[in-house]
Amino acid sequence: MSAITNHLPTAELQALDAAHHMHPFTTNDDLAAKGARIITRANGVYLHDSEGNEILDGMAGLWCVNIGYGREELADVAARQMKELPYYNTFFMTTHVPAIALAKEIASLAPDHLNQVFFAGSGSEANDTNLRMVRTYWAMKGKPTKSIIISRKNAYHGSSVGSGSLGGMTPMHEQGGLPIPDIMHINQPHWWAEGGDATPEDFGLACAQELEAAILQMGEDRVAAFIAEPIQGAGGVIIPPNTYWPEIQRICDKYEILLIADEVICGFGRTGNWFGSETLGIRPDIMTIAKGLSSGYQPIGGSIVSDEVAAVINSGEFNHGYTYSGHPVAAAVALENLRILQDENVLDHVRNVAGPALAEMWNGLGGHPLVGETKIIGMMASLALTPNKETRAKFAADAGTAGFMCRERSFANNLIMRHVYDRLVISPPLVITPEEITLLGQRARTALDEAYVQMKDLGLLKAAS
Ligand SMILES: *Cc1c(COP(=O)(O)O)cnc(C)c1O
Repeated sequence: MSAITNHLPTAELQALDAAHHMHPFTTNDDLAAKGARIITRANGVYLHDSEGNEILDGMAGLWCVNIGYGREELADVAARQMKELPYYNTFFMTTHVPAIALAKEIASLAPDHLNQVFFAGSGSEANDTNLRMVRTYWAMKGKPTKSIIISRKNAYHGSSVGSGSLGGMTPMHEQGGLPIPDIMHINQPHWWAEGGDATPEDFGLACAQELEAAILQMGEDRVAAFIAEPIQGAGGVIIPPNTYWPEIQRICDKYEILLIADEVICGFGRTGNWFGSETLGIRPDIMTIAKGLSSGYQPIGGSIVSDEVAAVINSGEFNHGYTYSGHPVAAAVALENLRILQDENVLDHVRNVAGPALAEMWNGLGGHPLVGETKIIGMMASLALTPNKETRAKFAADAGTAGFMCRERSFANNLIMRHVYDRLVISPPLVITPEEITLLGQRARTALDEAYVQMKDLGLLKAAS
């Protein structure tokens, strides 16, 4: 076997990648023609590529590297755990210390009534667990008809058949026969794009009341649960109006519908609290976790389950689980990540230092001619690109054209920002410093300036009629 290393020329690595590696959410033929960017190493908030660029990672990988790159403590813990016990399952009436310790730690950080953890290898797997768990819960309580799960359009809950069905991404549903039966999607509280003439408050309330209408339409005896991200991440960092979540909570309580908060992005400090549910005042029955749980250093996810749901599920056999549920190396690394978040007061840093600095920088971009609203909570932020701020107009060009151009100019300026159609989003490592935030802001502004000139030259600044 000949070694493939970082020392090979970029073009050679790109050719090998194109020949054998199918990328997720990618038109691989287009990528093969262009050549993938090869990331070679990373430290702090910076990535390095095979061309010698130092890139500021405004996305913390995929919303996950909360403590930043290059923390050797996690590598040391992984090596130690691999030597001691690299793997054992938790199926055969067996357990091990990393799973015990991590479950206990998660329970202590989670809201009081959430004290049990079911581990998975990813957020998608955890949401598959949730889907089966809430239906099983009602069946075990003698109400097997309560099987419908209500979700939202443009939600992201993962990419497996179950979690992709829970999600509300149309391009995903168009492939492979999703969604599976008994999943229903109501509108998202996305005021900028869909609020029309309503105030954000009225719109938020109306969106939440769609849940009540859906329950009444299907019948209370058919609905098992409502699932939502406290703040939609992949959908474009959509921060709901203040009226939204209290009304959702009221409706879930009134009709005894289980509430699943998908905390895969919001969890572990992203919004300035341990969980987005605290920031938004939600009382979920189950929380989905992944991403920031291990800061992405190991693949691990899970479901944090309320005492009430756990009491029912634990009274029988739940025929569900993954080979890597509670994987000892992943669990040990996640535990070390949680230790660092606590010992280094990372949440205080988010609340008092990085969050305010990021908000000031981000809201400052609101004056740019391409930018409509800017939105931010904690360390997740988005902005709307628009040809007309007053009317919140969309561009005449295909949705995503402006966003893609901004993203490309951002990459060209060594900043990773992501676009969701014509929204730009950032979600940097929580440990980012004010100086690094200033640099992020400068590069974002340059990217917007360059995209503006490009769009002007191409006649793309027109509003859709
Ligand atoms: C990323 C994500 C998932 C899926 O997690 P994977 O680890 O990619 O399977 C689920 N829910 C939300 C909110 C996410 O952002």
